[in-house]
Amino acid sequence: MIELTSISKSFGGTQVLDNVSLKVAEGRVTALIGPSGGGKSTLLRCINLLEIPDAGTLRLGEAAVEFHPGHRVGWDALQKIRRQTGMVFQNFQLFPHRTVLENVMEGLSTVLRWPRGKAEHHARALLVKVNMEHKANAWPATLSGGQQQRVAIARALAMSPRVLLCDEPTSALDPELATEVVEVLGKLAGEGTTMVIATHDLRLASRVANDVVFLEAGKVVEQGSSDLIFGAAVEARTRRFVSSIN
Ligand code: ADP
Ligand code: MG
Repeated sequence: MIELTSISKSFGGTQVLDNVSLKVAEGRVTALIGPSGGGKSTLLRCINLLEIPDAGTLRLGEAAVEFHPGHRVGWDALQKIRRQTGMVFQNFQLFPHRTVLENVMEGLSTVLRWPRGKAEHHARALLVKVNMEHKANAWPATLSGGQQQRVAIARALAMSPRVLLCDEPTSALDPELATEVVEVLGKLAGEGTTMVIATHDLRLASRVANDVVFLEAGKVVEQGSSDLIFGAAVEARTRRFVSSIN
């Protein structure tokens, strides 16, 4: 469903992604792991075109875009890609002056222009999915970090994206609250939600991901099934990284 081919990206003179290729099949979860500064967030942002790669190609569903240095990507292509993605951030980024329910309804009302009743019905069903229906009328600031992140996940799912992109979804949370979020992501994975998760939380990666990509200094060191990367990685560098955190 997602195919990145030879994606490269530099900021100033610094190459942050170097010829990165990966595929994500429908209904599967890919974790991007690796040391800080390795390019995980940038790669994730290249999938929804929050960053525009310098070179390579991106295919997402039926949309395909080729990148060339100095070429602008057309608005249509941007929209086609972005409409198919939902994003979850490390720091939740809920709208502070809207209730939990309104946060989840926002895109349905303002972008899709659904009538209020239909949007509310759909939003409540998503809050049930993330175990947050009891807080529908609460303000974000009154919630724990784990609760805010679960609302952010419901909001990202509201527009029915083909892929959910998560950037360090548990990294701002204490271990106990991170567990709530890992459980919700695990449940979504079990229901066949396609996800790409950038994380240095190896517990999250090993629990939720089918496939793992180990990125270091902008290069893919190794990629493969979660069992392979966590159990029997071929590259010594991967084995060292995976064992250093356990
Ligand atoms: P990770 O998520 O694996 O920690 P990032 O993708 O955030 O890695 O960063 C990779 C490298 O790119 C880092 O050296 C970072 O400083 C640099 N970088 C990321 N975003 C920008 C930007 N907008 N401008 C300049 N440098 C950036
Ligand atoms: Mg990052």
